[in-house]
Amino acid sequence: MISFEEYRQMILGLGQPVSTETVPLHAADGLVNAETVFARYAVPPFDNSAMDGFAVRAVDIENTPVTLPVSTDIPAGRTDVGELEPGTAARIMTGAPLPPGADTIVQVEKTANADQNMLTEAPHEITVLEPVTHGTHVRFSGEDIAVGEEALAPGEVLGPTQLSALASIGHGYVKVHRKPVIGVLSTGSELKKPGEEIAPGQIPDSNTTLVRLLVRASGAKDVVLSSSSDDPKDLAAVLDKAGAYLDGIITTGGVSAGAFDVVKEYLKDKNVGFHKVAMQPGKPQGSGVLNLGGRDVPILCLPGNPVSVFVSMKVYGDALIANLSGRTNTEIPWQEWETSESWKTPPGRAQFMPVVAKDGKVVRATSGGSGSHLVYSLMKTRGLAFVPTEVEEVRAGDKLKVWWL
Ligand code: AMP
Ligand code: MG
Repeated sequence: MISFEEYRQMILGLGQPVSTETVPLHAADGLVNAETVFARYAVPPFDNSAMDGFAVRAVDIENTPVTLPVSTDIPAGRTDVGELEPGTAARIMTGAPLPPGADTIVQVEKTANADQNMLTEAPHEITVLEPVTHGTHVRFSGEDIAVGEEALAPGEVLGPTQLSALASIGHGYVKVHRKPVIGVLSTGSELKKPGEEIAPGQIPDSNTTLVRLLVRASGAKDVVLSSSSDDPKDLAAVLDKAGAYLDGIITTGGVSAGAFDVVKEYLKDKNVGFHKVAMQPGKPQGSGVLNLGGRDVPILCLPGNPVSVFVSMKVYGDALIANLSGRTNTEIPWQEWETSESWKTPPGRAQFMPVVAKDGKVVRATSGGSGSHLVYSLMKTRGLAFVPTEVEEVRAGDKLKVWWL
């Protein structure tokens, strides 16, 4: 058996990032940045006012109250303002550029007749009631990022805040990896499509739905390959037809040691390795790179049990897609939580227990624990708690690593 950590490391080395394209910012949501981006503009791009009020030289308001003539009026967007004469003030609005020479903003509230001072016409003069220190309420150019600074590294996932940041530093387009296309293939002669009638011995195929949607959640495109029976000829036909346009394939079922384990049977001589991973659920796993129609296509062969599929998709499926889409952050965001329950865990295997939070502690999501066939109850799960290989019994009060989903 190999450890979960070792196997995940193997999957993180499977395949290469897919090709890139340059797209407008709004089209890049959820995609992965493909090159280092530098700031074309500083943030803020010029010194400006953080308040509605009056731009002054701090030396002119050291002794208050003091009355200064108002020389001009500066709304946001005005660009033709000359030097602020010593001993004067300029009325200024939030976001407007500071006139050269000014170094301090006096908030309107700190002036006499404040309620009058922001009416349509600027007042002829203002009285500053109390001293304001140098630099107050000035947003200085470049205080967030300077021109030419490195703004975003390749491998970062782009979302609303990253993309608005790129807009603010002068970019309208961004180079991203296109979404990898992942073929999803369920195997099993017992499977019927969702909604179809089942005869005794048959079950609805729930894995296809689970895997294709987790593929999307990981940032790839899903293509459902028609599901295969447990006849190798059937599987061969589906794979041969599918290979040409896929960046990766994820199969479920048929990887354990049974007589009809078609995936293992058919792929074991085709550069796909089958392993026993020391984890529960999800012990039987397969992975490798298939040559389909002259192209190398990474493949993950997950077990068939739905809870195993879910855990395998979170820990391995997402790692494969991270790799193919160029995403660099593949750390599992473990958090340490105390459990208020006790349970036995399988000896010699790490356990991924579906959990929820209750009263600030972590508890099992269902009475069935990590039973790998409990596909209905899986929806109650909010996290996966990790019980290391060497632990055989979890006791109430123990601290566990939890991955909140
Ligand atoms: P296998 O790994 O093929 O032996 O499958 C293990 C278990 O998972 C069996 O009980 C299968 O019936 C079940 N199973 C396999 N594929 C699916 C699927 N696509 N949807 C729901 N259950 C499945
Ligand atoms: Mg099967």
